[in-house]
Amino acid sequence: MSYLKNDGVTDTEQTTVEDPLYSDTLREECGVFGVFGHPDAAALTALGLHALQHRGQEAAGIVSYDGKHFNAERRLGLVGDHFSRQSTIDKLSGRLAIGHTRYSTTGGTILRNVQPLFADLADGGFSICHNGNLTNALSLRKELVKRGAIYQTTSDTEIVLHLVSRSPRTRFVEKFIDAIRQIEGAYSLVGLTNKKLIGARDPLGIRPLVLGQLDGCYILASETCALDIIGAKFIRDIENGEIVVITKDGVESLHPFPKVKARPCIFEYIYFARPDSLVDGRYVYDVRKLTGKQLAIEAPVEADVIIPVPDSGVPAAIGFAQHSGIPFELGIIRNHYVGRTFIEPTQQIRSLGVKLKHSANRSQVEGKRIVLVDDSVVRGTTSEKIVRMMYDAGALEVHLRVASPPIKFPDYYGIDTPNQDSLLAATHSLEEMREIMGVNTLAFLSVDGLYKSMGFEGRDNLAPQFTDHCFTGDYPTVLTDKNGRSDPRQLSFLA
Ligand code: AMP
Repeated sequence: MSYLKNDGVTDTEQTTVEDPLYSDTLREECGVFGVFGHPDAAALTALGLHALQHRGQEAAGIVSYDGKHFNAERRLGLVGDHFSRQSTIDKLSGRLAIGHTRYSTTGGTILRNVQPLFADLADGGFSICHNGNLTNALSLRKELVKRGAIYQTTSDTEIVLHLVSRSPRTRFVEKFIDAIRQIEGAYSLVGLTNKKLIGARDPLGIRPLVLGQLDGCYILASETCALDIIGAKFIRDIENGEIVVITKDGVESLHPFPKVKARPCIFEYIYFARPDSLVDGRYVYDVRKLTGKQLAIEAPVEADVIIPVPDSGVPAAIGFAQHSGIPFELGIIRNHYVGRTFIEPTQQIRSLGVKLKHSANRSQVEGKRIVLVDDSVVRGTTSEKIVRMMYDAGALEVHLRVASPPIKFPDYYGIDTPNQDSLLAATHSLEEMREIMGVNTLAFLSVDGLYKSMGFEGRDNLAPQFTDHCFTGDYPTVLTDKNGRSDPRQLSFLA
């Protein structure tokens, strides 16, 4: 039987300000990666995770299998902080490896939550990593804990290990299917046994997952940019509701769920995925540029210069500028050595983060009527600070154009948008937001405009093409934990 040789848990466990046991969230928005059969499996995984760094900057981990043992390294921090060292890669020997980058969330910033998770099951070791968020993990967990299950983490992903372990089926893949039939919500999973690399995408395909090939070996990754970095060929997206089982004999594709229409998360195109990635048949960059063009059609403005909020507002600003004919300039310079705004756990530090991250480029702003283009407004922190920065740098007028509709509803599928009260557009009218931000005019892309940017005539309200609950409140799955819980504390059953 396989065992975990080195679980990498050498640091003192650290907690965030919030006690993870009493946090109201069990969220994971992350990047996943896997390699089957390559002599440099761990090094390729480290590179893949590096390309997926934008999907999670809080922690990273790799588990490999070397024919005898599973080896694991997990660390808080950026991929490059730890996994660029040859000494680390040397500890992760073997031709099979999976890896994970973890997104900052409110609770649970502790080493034992860092993925890939690993368990020694009856038939051998099983390691798993997850991008997404399960909407019934707490309810399932509560039941299992009552029946004696001992949890090692506060991550929703651990439920999959427990369910696989408890399945009465005999074959591993059947156990895995048994497990994922019980979970709800969003998941792109990459799992590893001593013989198999497994990829699974939830029935709606909410989070992305792709299959690639390098030197005859198969690769799984959240996004194609992680294939590009290692020179792997993109083969195809994993389909919604599909499981791929990769062994020495090749790729087996299984469809254990009734076939339903895919509804990938539209926010991947707006903010989350990297612009150079091809997600479900569309280049993210192209979509973002088209959102800018559509915004210029819907909310034109007379101005001297189009300025993107870097980096995520850049493609939309180019689209806006090209359509409107107004020059595009870099009026804000971004410091790339500071993490994403949301990485900071408190609102106070988050506000500071915006200043650390962006500076006005006075030569392009002073004495000008400017159009600021950003991809989205969540709490409004970024826009408020940046608008002030533009006026301080001498802007005559500031017009804000947002290349997505107002975010009015929280996310339960792994994008860590906050609770509804903190969402600016959920609690304020357009005019109130304009006043708070202090801009001359403010406009958001319409929901139909967003769908037009994706090549549709508009949103199909009877059968929506994407998961767009942040804008519409239309949640595509049941929200068992949210609706079925009387006590908001996630582990209240322990009290
Ligand atoms: P806020 O300052 O709260 O309004 O956040 C808006 C900014 O955060 C925009 O510039 C986006 O590029 C970025 N953003 C949007 N969604 C997210 C997310 N889920 N995580 C981190 N940053 C985000």
